[in-house]
Amino acid sequence: MTPAALDTGARTDLVRVLLVEDSVDHQMLTKRALARAGMDVIVSGSAEEALEVLGSSDEDVHLVLIDHGLPRMSGMDLLERVVAMPDGPGAIMVTAAAASEMVVQSMRNGAVDFVSKESGYLDLLPAVVERAYRQYDLRRRTGELQRLALLVHRSTDLEETVGEVVAGISKLLRTQAAVLLLEEPEDPPRWRVAARSGEPAALTDDEAQAMASQEAGGGDIVEEPGRLAVHLPVELDEQTGTLVVARSADRPWLAEERELARTFAAYVSSALRHVRRAALEGGLIEELQQTIRARRDFVASVSHELRTPLTSIGGYAETIVRRADRLDEETKMDLVERIGRNAADLERMIDQLIDVAKLERGTRFTPSLERLPLHDTIATSLRDLQPIIGDAEVFLDAGAQLEVVADRELLHRVIANLLTNAVKYTRGPARIDITTEAQDAYVEVVVRDHGIGIDPADAALVFQPFWRAGYAVAQAVRGAGIGLALVREYVAVMSGEVGVRLPADGTGSAFWFTLPTEPVTEASPPSPEVQITVD
Ligand code: ADP
Repeated sequence: MTPAALDTGARTDLVRVLLVEDSVDHQMLTKRALARAGMDVIVSGSAEEALEVLGSSDEDVHLVLIDHGLPRMSGMDLLERVVAMPDGPGAIMVTAAAASEMVVQSMRNGAVDFVSKESGYLDLLPAVVERAYRQYDLRRRTGELQRLALLVHRSTDLEETVGEVVAGISKLLRTQAAVLLLEEPEDPPRWRVAARSGEPAALTDDEAQAMASQEAGGGDIVEEPGRLAVHLPVELDEQTGTLVVARSADRPWLAEERELARTFAAYVSSALRHVRRAALEGGLIEELQQTIRARRDFVASVSHELRTPLTSIGGYAETIVRRADRLDEETKMDLVERIGRNAADLERMIDQLIDVAKLERGTRFTPSLERLPLHDTIATSLRDLQPIIGDAEVFLDAGAQLEVVADRELLHRVIANLLTNAVKYTRGPARIDITTEAQDAYVEVVVRDHGIGIDPADAALVFQPFWRAGYAVAQAVRGAGIGLALVREYVAVMSGEVGVRLPADGTGSAFWFTLPTEPVTEASPPSPEVQITVD
């Protein structure tokens, strides 16, 4: 067979053969025969030398042609060592003429093929090597695809997985460069280079992006000489992206290569889907665990909260009964007042529990809306809240006499909850500033304290029912983690919004809410967004 007649078919790269042969004559003849068929040949004079070549990472050898009769380490021993190499090259055994036993043993030991040194065998050799190469290449590609499929399936780290996929396409398509662009769902959307391999100069980010931005006429592939871009298959709501590869413009892309590129694009999509699902599941599990923890703490807190005033009531009543004849009138009145205050605490607590039960059932409060002078209404609340305020300093800005449309009782509860927290979460006597400000059709009320503040990482959680910061639980600060969830709902049914601002210096927090100045006709959303801002 002449080299020209050799069918190199879909082969797109240079076959690199390591010839292991001790006879210099054979080395020369074999090398010439293979080079004429367009193959690249490296020569080793012994098995030991061959192992050294194979061990060095800069020689990418596809096939080893092993002469059976090598000095010292035999060809058969070398074959065993080559076959045992992970991702190693394929091996072809060259045996003496009519050595059928040797052939059987070579094939048993894992050789891809064999040739015997019969007359004219050098003419046959390129075809044998070519066939063996195809087999080797197929095995390698299948192995690589299987490995990547498994990786994609187990993927939790997107960057790492897409990095491997892009390196994989580079390797199997033998490109000079490969780039994966993902469209980030921003406003306006933008492309991000999620992974790249190969030489940056062979495909710049801008060139890749230009390919990615082109519409694929009817299909998913955009093709230019030396460039191929495959748009990722996208299911509903999925992130879009494009895989772009580049190599020399001399060779056209084969159908098989386009198909392979599509497979890799599908891998990237799977990885994206898989990682998103894993993150979603992780988030849900974390949320569920948090809810379970919060509820467990809630039961403990509530029992404690109910027991504290009850114990006080029991204690004071017992003192009055036991020592009635020895107590003066003033002390008795003081004890009765204390009983009254604790009973009021209990009542407030139970009202809140009933409200939170309603909230949990999804029942909405029906507000009795009226026009209220904001400043005076808050001032009245503050007078009623004197027992809670104690020796804290509360400043209410005089403000203009702003009017709001609100439910007097719900507004009082909102102020009571925010004020209670401002006092509770300040070590020592608190300083609290309440300010009001007109904003279009709303008025914003801010309750600013200078207490222990809130960790920005926790800020989004404070309005969730039952959630309490670790220190509130650990240091047994009174409360059950329902106050702010109720504040949010009370404000929502009055068509307002709530949020918290965390001052940059970490001193305290500023809880705010808005109330409309005119009746709002549309229904308020069931769970309005809470706005968290860190200054
Ligand atoms: P409670 O105060 O009963 O625990 P809340 O729903 O009122 O429940 O508040 C939830 C959590 O938010 C509190 O446990 C606390 O960790 C945090 N928090 C609320 N208000 C403040 C504040 N003013 N300063 C610091 N942390 C606060």
